[in-house]
Amino acid sequence: MKTITTIKELREELKNHRKEGRTIGLVPTMGFLHSGHISLVERSTQECDITVVSIFVNPTQFGPNEDFDSYPRDLESDKRQLEIAGASYVFAPAVDEVYSQNDGTAIRLEDPITRKLCGASRPGHFDGVTTVVSKLFNMVMPDRAYFGKKDAQQLAIVKRITDDLKYDIEIVGCEIKREQDGLAMSSRNVYLSSSERQAAAAISRAIFKAKAAIDTSQRDEILSAHIIEGIHSEIEGSGGRIDYIKIVDPDNFEDIKLIKGGYLILVATFYGRTRLIDNISGKLAAKSQENQC
Ligand code: AMP
Repeated sequence: MKTITTIKELREELKNHRKEGRTIGLVPTMGFLHSGHISLVERSTQECDITVVSIFVNPTQFGPNEDFDSYPRDLESDKRQLEIAGASYVFAPAVDEVYSQNDGTAIRLEDPITRKLCGASRPGHFDGVTTVVSKLFNMVMPDRAYFGKKDAQQLAIVKRITDDLKYDIEIVGCEIKREQDGLAMSSRNVYLSSSERQAAAAISRAIFKAKAAIDTSQRDEILSAHIIEGIHSEIEGSGGRIDYIKIVDPDNFEDIKLIKGGYLILVATFYGRTRLIDNISGKLAAKSQENQC
């Protein structure tokens, strides 16, 4: 495994692999890696000849009062984990390698999806994400790029820009990795005090309960508000401060008032000053049709 910090060297290395007909997988990350990130890397090493893992804490996706400066970083530990996972390259550029002083280009998806949920709570966040992902795609020119379903809205947005900008890249969505008590793994979990950490298990508990209630329901339709209420009280009861709880159509992220089929529940919650996100998808089976047989 080789660590690279410049675009020039990255391009030279990858050009040779492409000439030899090797496929390239990209796993974009902000580092401080955990088993969730590593599961993406392992998927890439299984499916691609070469795996590039980028480690870049992207300033443009952080708001002015967010945690860019304090975001956890540990490149040495990341490299050790990536070596074991079988990554070929760690691409860890400095900020001025990715953004030049007179950089005037940004990539923005003009669609309501960028302005709701995390886009509403973190204005400009997804513009930063789409800009850096586009830059990484142009630098690496991968055959496949791996993203976690943990950031479901981000994954949907990245799929859209890939289609819109005609990148010849397959976007692969990977399942959410969780701690033993269900908490979705996140680099930000280190911010939690031990009591906050314990309390935060309420997020996954609440959405798993909601999914079980929906997917095993005998009804033809369920009011989203009723499900949201249950999640709300479980999380608030644990001391979490809710940013949003939404139930949307997984295809377009539009709110759904009545759950009749496929759904995606998305939650953002603060424990102390730490904002955590999680989600779960499922399907309400059409019971009345089954019963007609
Ligand atoms: P980040 O470093 O937080 O930007 O995450 C890099 C990639 O890892 C993103 O595609 C995330 O969705 C993904 N990821 C983060 N946490 C998890 C997790 N718990 N399970 C699966 N993928 C994750």
